[in-house]
Amino acid sequence: MFQIQNYINGKLVDPAGNTCIDNYNPSIGAVYSRTPDSDERDIEAAVEAATRAFPYWSTKPAQERARYLLRISDLIEGNLDRLAQAESVDNGKPVSLARSVDIPRAAGNFRFFATAIQHFASEAHAMEDTAINYTLRPPIGVVGCISPWNLPLYLFTWKIAPALAAGNCVVGKPSEITPMTAYLLSELCIEAGLPDGVLNIVHGLGQKTGSAISMHPGIPVISFTGGTRTGATIAATAAPLFKKLSLELGGKNPNIVFADCRYEEMLQTSLLSSFSNQGEICLCGSRIFIERSLYETFRNDFVEQTKQLTVGDPLSETSRLGAVVSKPHMDKILSYIELAREEGGTILCGGRQVQVEGRCRDGWFVAPTVIEGLSHTCRTNQEEIFGPVVTLIPFDTEEEVVAYANSTPYGLAASLWTENLTRAHRMAGRLQSGIIWINCWMLRDLRTPFGGMKQSGVGREGGFEALRFFTEPKNVCIKM
Ligand code: NAD
Repeated sequence: MFQIQNYINGKLVDPAGNTCIDNYNPSIGAVYSRTPDSDERDIEAAVEAATRAFPYWSTKPAQERARYLLRISDLIEGNLDRLAQAESVDNGKPVSLARSVDIPRAAGNFRFFATAIQHFASEAHAMEDTAINYTLRPPIGVVGCISPWNLPLYLFTWKIAPALAAGNCVVGKPSEITPMTAYLLSELCIEAGLPDGVLNIVHGLGQKTGSAISMHPGIPVISFTGGTRTGATIAATAAPLFKKLSLELGGKNPNIVFADCRYEEMLQTSLLSSFSNQGEICLCGSRIFIERSLYETFRNDFVEQTKQLTVGDPLSETSRLGAVVSKPHMDKILSYIELAREEGGTILCGGRQVQVEGRCRDGWFVAPTVIEGLSHTCRTNQEEIFGPVVTLIPFDTEEEVVAYANSTPYGLAASLWTENLTRAHRMAGRLQSGIIWINCWMLRDLRTPFGGMKQSGVGREGGFEALRFFTEPKNVCIKM
């Protein structure tokens, strides 16, 4: 069985303890590879390698660092099909999605930050004829990057690329549930000639390998994407060590539809924002609020079209939804559907596991599910399900829907559909979300600040925000 290895100090190595974790292919419900069960000894080795590489890497001219990142980007693009296939097998997502979104974006992350660093500048503050201040922004040192399973290579590289571009060295840990493309990335980094120790990838469990990163005194910066509860655990460990933290956490995003919207475009985009990647995207709009005059029309059309979405073998080009990532995750999604029933909701479609024929008969598939009849305050509408499950709620006034939308502890993203520009601007100001999409969803410009409010996170990624995070401002004041 294929054995994934750690990437430490430029080499592929087995974990110190020589033990492994099973890695499942969720579409067939079976183990297909093994991943290192690394512990603090492996993190120690990675931190040592990164610390040794730092003086060399951090003092290289930005253009030279950029050249390595561009080479990695080219190699990701050159291996598009292989990486897309690997991501689909490991995660369960349709291969067409991995080929069109996940892998191109991973290449894009390296390309974007390779160029961004060459345009990054710091400030000067003149005090008339008394003095001048200038601010340096050196890299910080060894950075810990911890990422989740839903967009494995996409989100892992979204952290690693800016950290490396800014001149830091990295100890990265992908999710133990989807380690494969991070492993393939380490092979590509070797091929790209990335100097030893600049990037280290250590595989393993969150509570063991991940917490060894958050506890390690030699890692002063942590960039984390994952669940809100895990974010709180990492923050509690890292705070007394005064680590710099970026936390990208969960969401329970509203998708708000006014009757004056461009209907067909809204309908098609709402299908995507509900069920793309089996609903396992932190930005998915899982609570759909519809102005009452449009409610019935929308409900009928949306349910009708949801029923047409093909759930099937992720490797088939015709599947719109693949498998959900794991058996425990499928059970969690199904338990929330059960909860919705108990809370008085009506399941309009889906609401069950799907048995796929043939090769995938033992896989973990969930039918796209639409629920109505629930209050915005119930648990189904307050807690993150992170699966192909959405609820429909009618509203009468703008005031009311803003209150509904803002009623959860989360504040990651919101979508709003209206042709009334004044209302759109007004609501963009009032919605408590770090990202607001008006008449669109997932339209991303990598220069913009990305992140959540409230329990959806602390800090922002993207563009120069990321480069500021991965550098330490140091002010120099010179008296004239
Ligand atoms: P998770 O929190 O279980 O795991 C994320 C990562 O943290 C994994 O690599 C895991 O091994 C590691 N980890 C777990 N416990 C740890 C600990 N005690 N110390 C250090 N590391 C630890 O999340 P998940 O289930 O992999 O991902 C789903 C969650 O991620 C959802 O809540 C989703 O909303 C969120 N997410 C957020 C964003 C965003 O940009 N805000 C993007 C994608 C996913």
